Amino acid sequence: MEVSDELRSLEATGIYRLADSRAAFLDPVRLLNESYRRFRLVPSAYYSRSFGPSHQGGDAESERTVPSPNREKRKRKRQKKPRELNAVERLADARHQEARPLLISAHDSLLKAKDLLEFLPEMIKGEECLLDVETKLENNFVELGSSWRAPFYEMTVCFQKAQNNEDGFCNVQRRSIPLFNRIINGDENDDAEGEFQSRRYILPKGSCFLMTDFRHVRDLIPDNSKQEYNLIVIDPPWENGCVRQKEAYPTLPNRYLLYLPVQELAHPAGALLVLWITNREKLWKFVEDELLPSWGVKDPTVFYWLKVKSDGSLIGDLDLFHHRPYECLLLGYINVNKEAELKPKFKFLEGSQVIMSVPGAHSRKPPLQKILSEYIPGTKPPRCIELFARDLGSGWTSWGNEALHFQDSMYFSEK
Ligand code: SAM
Repeated sequence: MEVSDELRSLEATGIYRLADSRAAFLDPVRLLNESYRRFRLVPSAYYSRSFGPSHQGGDAESERTVPSPNREKRKRKRQKKPRELNAVERLADARHQEARPLLISAHDSLLKAKDLLEFLPEMIKGEECLLDVETKLENNFVELGSSWRAPFYEMTVCFQKAQNNEDGFCNVQRRSIPLFNRIINGDENDDAEGEFQSRRYILPKGSCFLMTDFRHVRDLIPDNSKQEYNLIVIDPPWENGCVRQKEAYPTLPNRYLLYLPVQELAHPAGALLVLWITNREKLWKFVEDELLPSWGVKDPTVFYWLKVKSDGSLIGDLDLFHHRPYECLLLGYINVNKEAELKPKFKFLEGSQVIMSVPGAHSRKPPLQKILSEYIPGTKPPRCIELFARDLGSGWTSWGNEALHFQDSMYFSEK
């Protein structure tokens, strides 16, 4: 099959722009790997959650609503007892109906991109065999950070300095740094490695993190306005039955988010704020009526993250009420004033878009900086921060109570 320019672009940049739709397909592994010099994230470790092919042939519509025995059973059950939606459910359904045409058009474009569909299984597998990431004993940073010992835990960070040409040895500098409640900067130009409790963590070049609980979040506020941020990504631990059930991570009462120092983190010359939000209608009301206005964000734009399997079919029925195969992101500007509107050095957000990818671990979101780069105000490269992060990136400050989670060396190989 002929390789299109878009597929070449996916291989080079991690982004495949789909023709005739406001949609793009991302390879998070390629995007994340741009942060590293000596290491690379292993595709089979990122894609360790099984989203293999659905083994269903057929047209675009049947590929979208891939039947599985359980889902079919649930569907029949639902069909037997049709019930009226209550007022809140009707609002949620109206929101879904508004998004539906855009999501269907994006998915149809993906199904037409035959070269991409053919490439997907290879992209997910990489050349490595599947890593057993789930059974390895990882450090539980949430627990460790909340113990009385937290102030005494130290990470030994190894920085490799320039190669000594005469004897071929690298000059390695080791520094012990308190792991919790302290901002830790990686090396500006090279990946560093941290050792903690017999495990190794990869710190990408130019990364920075603060691993603390919400109570210490104000430690992130920079002393000087040049260090404030142009891109702020927030993926809160929203209260939600599914997260509690799986005990994936602790959740936070939604109203606590009103105390995030978002305005203090936003660059005075303008910042793009991105907030991941679940499909619960009550949450939307709180976010639109209270949270975004309190952060100074007006008229947000909605983007959608549509989750697909390695054969391009959706991970679930598009219309399944409580388990939509997509998540939403609200995007809006802070401190973007009239002056910026007159001489913008960036493109203003205009209308909704769809991002598609094969999901990784539970609740792990695709990296957004590159796909949003043209919409970020301020100087380039932008200063970026992620709140409630579970990994690090070059040019990013990552904050959360388990910011190092996906930096465990078991997810990486050496280049
Ligand atoms: N964006 C992340 C990703 O792509 O992997 C997922 C973030 S997850 C939705 C929310 C994160 O917030 C979890 O790592 C959770 O442990 C963390 N969190 C929960 N309560 C917190 C608290 N009180 N302070 C700091 N972080 C917290």
